[in-house]
Amino acid sequence: MSSIRCPICERQFDPAASPAMPFCSDRCRQIDLGRWLRKVYSVPVERKDDIDEESLPPAPPTDD
Ligand SMILES: [Zn+2]
Repeated sequence: MSSIRCPICERQFDPAASPAMPFCSDRCRQIDLGRWLRKVYSVPVERKDDIDEESLPPAPPTDD
């Protein structure tokens, strides 16, 4: 019997039973993908607290 450990939740699982190798589940795969995307698209500015999202104008309605 061979089980591996999920790099996201660190749960032992059977790789043959997982549809989302090398993760234990598709949920953990999505979490890893999200982390990866954040790293790829991370901006050099570390703090964006001065940006007030509520001050942005609302998106115009697309009505066609
Ligand atoms: Zn997992």
